[in-house]
Amino acid sequence: MSGKHWPPGTQCVTKHDHTKPKPQELAFHKGDVVTIIATGKGWYRARHNETGQEGLMAASALRQRGPIRADPKLSLMPWFHGKISGVEAVQELQPPEDGLFLVRESVRHPGDYVLCVSFGREVIHYRVVHEENTLSIDSHQHFSNLIDMIEYYMKEQGAICTKLVKPKPKSGMKSAEEELAKAGWLLNLQHLTLGDRIGQGEFGDVLQGEYMGQKVAVKNIKCDVTAQAFLTETAAMTKVRHKNLVCLLGVILHNGLYIVMEFMSKGNLVNFLRTRGRALVSVEQLLLFALDVAQGMDYLESKRLVHRDLAARNILISEENVAKVSDFGLARVNPKGADATLLPVKWTAPEALKHNKFSSKSDVWSYGILLWETFSFGRTPYPKLSLKEVTELLEQGYRMEPPEGCPHTVYALMKSCWALEPGKRPSFKKLTEKLQKELKHLKDV
Ligand code: ADP
Ligand code: MG
Repeated sequence: MSGKHWPPGTQCVTKHDHTKPKPQELAFHKGDVVTIIATGKGWYRARHNETGQEGLMAASALRQRGPIRADPKLSLMPWFHGKISGVEAVQELQPPEDGLFLVRESVRHPGDYVLCVSFGREVIHYRVVHEENTLSIDSHQHFSNLIDMIEYYMKEQGAICTKLVKPKPKSGMKSAEEELAKAGWLLNLQHLTLGDRIGQGEFGDVLQGEYMGQKVAVKNIKCDVTAQAFLTETAAMTKVRHKNLVCLLGVILHNGLYIVMEFMSKGNLVNFLRTRGRALVSVEQLLLFALDVAQGMDYLESKRLVHRDLAARNILISEENVAKVSDFGLARVNPKGADATLLPVKWTAPEALKHNKFSSKSDVWSYGILLWETFSFGRTPYPKLSLKEVTELLEQGYRMEPPEGCPHTVYALMKSCWALEPGKRPSFKKLTEKLQKELKHLKDV
C-alpha cells in the first residue's frame, strides 16, 4: 500500500503510534486522520486533522480510509428512542450516571419530544416543545433539529441540570459519529471555514469553503430525518475513488449534516455551456466532457452502483476543465425515487419510469440525453414537449433530432443509448472507446 501515491488533499489514517517524532516529523497515534499536503519518495508532508500540526511522515505509516458500509443501524441520533414511556426511559437510564441521557417522543404531547437526563440518582424529564419549526426546552434557546439541540447541551449546561455527557443508544443502534470517526471520514469543524453560497440544492444550500488549506464545497442538510437518509447514501461515496467522480472529503455532524466535497470551480455543466456557448467551447471540448462522464460512469458500473439521476445538471466542472459526476448514490434518497410522478421524466429510461427498473443500462439511456444536452450547449431536452407528450411519443418510437452542428457519429451514439430494449444499449466501456476514437479522428483531420 505504501507504493500508492496520494494527491494533496487525500485523507489518510495512520497505521501505528509515532509519539517521539524527530524534528520536522509529525507525531500521531494509531488511527489518527491526517491530510496529505505534499508527496515525496517514500514520505509525505501531512497535517494532523485533530492538532492541526504539520510535518513529515513515512508513507508506510499511512493507509487509505476504509469504506463505510451502508447500514440502517448506523444512526446520527443513536440516543433517540422513539415512542417510549417515561417509566421505560427511566429503566433505560439505569444504573444512574450524571449526564447519561436519551430523547423520546412525548406520549402526552404528540409532536413534542422529551429529553431524559440522569442526575443524582434521579431521571429528569424535560419537555422539548416543537413550535414554528423550532425546538426549545426553555423557550429561550431554539434549535432547528434534535441533533443541534443535543450538540448544544453537550457543550453548555444552559437551563438544564447538567451538561449532557453520555448518550444512551437505543438498543441495536450504532452511533454514526463514532463509526465515521473510526473509519476516518469525520472531519473537524474547527478546520472548516465557510464562505459564499454557490448553489441551491434540493435539500439545502451548497456553500464554498476551505478545509485545511483546500478549497471545498459544503452541502448542508439541516433536517435531521433527511440528514439520516443522506448518511446511508453517503456510504456509497466512501466506496469510490475516480478522477471523474466528485470526491467526498468527509462529513461533519453540525447544523444537521455537512457533506464536504472537493470544490468544482466552474460549476455545473448546464450553466458552463449556457454561459459560454458555441463561440467559446469547441467540439473537442464537448467530446472531452462526454468522455470524462463515460469514464466516471464506467467505473460506477464496475462497482455495481446505479446513479439514477445522471443529467448535465449533476456534472460539475473543475478549474482544469475536467468533468466529474456528482450526486451519485444520493439519488435514492430523493423522494423522486419513491414517487414516480416526480421522476426526472425527460432523463429517465422507459423501463425505469414504468416498472421502476433502474440499472446501469437505464443510466446509459440518461447518458444519451446528457450527450444531447452537451451538444446543444445546455438546452433542455425535448424542447416544447410536455412530460406527457414525451412519454407517449417515446412509446411510438420517436427520438430527439440531433442538436445543430452535432457530428453524426455522436448522434449515432445518442440513438444507441435510446434503444428501447435495455440489453441493446452500449455499455459505458463501449461508449468510452467510441468517444476516444472520435477524439482521435478529430485530431487527425
Ligand atoms: P441537489 O442535487 O441536492 O439539488 P447539487 O448537488 O446538484 O444539489 O448542487 C446544487 C448546485 O450547487 C450545483 O448545480 C452546483 O452549481 C453547486 N455545487 C454542488 N456541488 C458543488 C461542488 N462540489 N463544487 C462546486 N459547486 C457545487
Ligand atoms: Mg443535483
